[in-house]
Amino acid sequence: EGFLPFEHEPYFNFRDGAVAQAQQEAFRQVREQYVGRTFPLIVGGQEAQGSGTFEVRNPADTREVVWRFQNATPAQLQQAVEAAQAAFEEWRFSDPFQRASIFKRAAELLRARRMELNAVMTLENGKNWPEADGEVAESVDHFEVFAREALRWAQGKPVYPMPDEHVTTVYEPLGVVACISPWNFPSAIPLGMALGAIAAGNTVIWKPARETPLSSYLMVELLFEAGLPRGVIQFLTGTDDVLGDPLVDHPGVRMIAFTGSKEIGCRIYERAAKVQPGQRWLKRVIAEMGGKDPTVVCADGDLDAAAAGIVQAAFGYAGQKCSACSRVIAEESVYDALLEKVTALARQLKVGLPEDNADLGPVIHPGSAERIMGFVERGQQSARLVLGGDVPDMGERQGGYVSPTIFADVPPSDPLFQEEIFGPVLAFTRARDWQHAIELANDSEYGLTAAFYSRDPHKIEEARKRLHVGNLYINRKCTGALSGTHAFGGYGMSGTNAKVGGPDYLFWFLQTKTVAQRY
Ligand code: GLU
Repeated sequence: EGFLPFEHEPYFNFRDGAVAQAQQEAFRQVREQYVGRTFPLIVGGQEAQGSGTFEVRNPADTREVVWRFQNATPAQLQQAVEAAQAAFEEWRFSDPFQRASIFKRAAELLRARRMELNAVMTLENGKNWPEADGEVAESVDHFEVFAREALRWAQGKPVYPMPDEHVTTVYEPLGVVACISPWNFPSAIPLGMALGAIAAGNTVIWKPARETPLSSYLMVELLFEAGLPRGVIQFLTGTDDVLGDPLVDHPGVRMIAFTGSKEIGCRIYERAAKVQPGQRWLKRVIAEMGGKDPTVVCADGDLDAAAAGIVQAAFGYAGQKCSACSRVIAEESVYDALLEKVTALARQLKVGLPEDNADLGPVIHPGSAERIMGFVERGQQSARLVLGGDVPDMGERQGGYVSPTIFADVPPSDPLFQEEIFGPVLAFTRARDWQHAIELANDSEYGLTAAFYSRDPHKIEEARKRLHVGNLYINRKCTGALSGTHAFGGYGMSGTNAKVGGPDYLFWFLQTKTVAQRY
């Protein structure tokens, strides 16, 4: 039952006119159904109002308020922790088959609503159609994968036998898990963390990013509709002064699953280390943080394939993925040719409205565009700007639009090479040879993804051994990890390497009990 054949959810082909029309229709329906509405918190299975609401704005034009969510109060945080603790006392003993069948049912429900979820996401975070679709399809995959993982981990593991004892090793859940998630993958990332927690028998406090609460809220509702007992997830939105440090510090929280910036990840890691009065455990933290992901291109690599992969990975969703390619490191002999190919492809990308499925939409905030442009301006002192570097004219619209930008001859010491920009900015750096290219690729505090292009088995073998990353992609782009197949998570300052969607992910949400019995 647990290991039924698995297939990744196929993507929609928006080049098919009928499919594109259906997606357009979904936007119309989402606007009718959701725009202007105010959504509640969910605490102890009940919907609740906070101390007030905040507006969620369409990043494509921040004059448009799309929906509103609640600011939870400190008392509601307290209630949420207590409700999650109470629900844990039942959910921890729930049948793993029940968990799996809830997830299977949720996958079915989501399959039927994919275009709706795509449209919601586009209006919240500015993904174009295939980017939103890729994420919603990943969310379906998460349901399917975690259904199987719940069953697999319920079986325990064999131990070396003893003649006079019956010994078992079993896995038990931890307690209340706070899931703190970013705006760039507002459905798949919180879902991956929460399903990891729930599949293992924990209960959850789900805190989505302020920018993108509806993509999250709809996942929580879907789980309830699929039969998840409503106490298992508390859905809290609000401000960081209530849900930031106080949630992390709360003595009732057993574990924190975080995805977001390095800065916040480090802060959580440090704060969670402190044992608070009344706390009876050492908190566990898993954190996925940033990346400065390189694509290495060897002289013998397929330059056309590399150029296509680089452009997709660097400029898809305007580079706002921790997996995005932000550095290209090419061997001297192919550097200029590759730069030319990448620049030619990137030049064709159109910046525009994500709702119209433009290649690149806005970045998440106008303020983020300013920050990105700061990197671009400083970069011009140390590197050669070959494409973009400007803000396209979007007329009346207020949004953080940045043109696809490429710098050449970026020195390894430069911020363009070292710092995560989280925008459509790509740095090219020349390597003496392929070994030097690998060295340069590793010259980073991060280690999330890398792509490596070569046809030479020896170079590929060396790359496999030496590239210091959690996700290495050979002869393909470095974004688009698939749940269940490409366990996702990095090395170094990219985080704790918990590897969501991988065969060991659930272990992070469990503790191991040995029971030795004599008769
Ligand atoms: N899992 C996504 C990918 O492989 C990236 C997630 C992220 O950017 O946080 O592209």
